[in-house]
Amino acid sequence: MTRAEIYKKVLREYEKEKDNSDRLFKKRIDEIYSLIPDIKKIDDEIVKINIAFSRAALSKLNKKESIERLHIKNRELVRKKNELLEQCGINEDFLYDVYKCKKCRDSGYVNGKECSCLKKRLIEAAYDMSNIKDVLEYENFESFDISFYSDKKDPVLGKSPRERIESIFLKALNFVKDFDIKFTNLFLYGKSGLGKTFLCNCIAKDLLDEGKSVLYLSASQLFKMLEKDNFGDSKDDFGEVLNLIFDADLLIIDDLGTEFQTVFTASEFFNIINLRFIKKKPVVISTNLSPEDIIDKYSDRVVSRFYGNYDFLEFLGEDIRILKLTKGQDMNSI
Ligand SMILES: [Zn+2]
Repeated sequence: MTRAEIYKKVLREYEKEKDNSDRLFKKRIDEIYSLIPDIKKIDDEIVKINIAFSRAALSKLNKKESIERLHIKNRELVRKKNELLEQCGINEDFLYDVYKCKKCRDSGYVNGKECSCLKKRLIEAAYDMSNIKDVLEYENFESFDISFYSDKKDPVLGKSPRERIESIFLKALNFVKDFDIKFTNLFLYGKSGLGKTFLCNCIAKDLLDEGKSVLYLSASQLFKMLEKDNFGDSKDDFGEVLNLIFDADLLIIDDLGTEFQTVFTASEFFNIINLRFIKKKPVVISTNLSPEDIIDKYSDRVVSRFYGNYDFLEFLGEDIRILKLTKGQDMNSI
């Protein structure tokens, strides 16, 4: 599902909910009219004024004055109406609390602009489809802790794991910041337990919060899906995810190298990498494999896509999961 499709789906939900709330609202209004008939008279007047507003907006003669006059009349009517409601112990909330969002009355828009509730809902819909909703609560840029990386320089590289992670962290931040203007793919590699998956999640969260569609799959999940697709039994369960593999704003493939490949899935994998490249849709890959392993394990055409078009970022240091355990932290959080 593309972003546009998510949008359409959410708007359809809004329409349904709005119909429902409008019906409840109408019922509530009718109750009030039978209780206080004068309110009906006032509302009829307000409708007339609204019509007069549109007429005045079109007329060339005394436009400003007539609109100002109508505004004054309108305010007076609204004041009277609220007074009457108050006298009967009804507050405005009683009328409008049929709506989930009073700001946009469940239409999703305020003055032609997306209401905050619609933005929130779009983000939630994208989160649901990302496949990593829960983990993002505690794995994000704010909780990424570089103090776990040693500041001792590696004698060969002349750099410490801390310096390295600082520059990788900055790259990841820029990747998110420039997501719409710069097409970049990231290839995160290094031993296990160095925070590659964690960093993938940080990237995913920030982009999801901006309303982008992000699909996160472990390599073994991805290849299993491709395999099922080969047997033609994926349409119901995975159809939507298969579309997302090609269409999501960002695809994250975690733990590349742990998958089981067949001739079919290997060629499908190339298709994914290639088509996303052609469509300029970024991919972030994480792997424990070294660049040499990648050359051995994948076809030349896949390797050439990686080497020409991905930023290779090597993680250094010691297994953070073990360091965290000795510091008494939760092992799941890295
Ligand atoms: Zn709203």
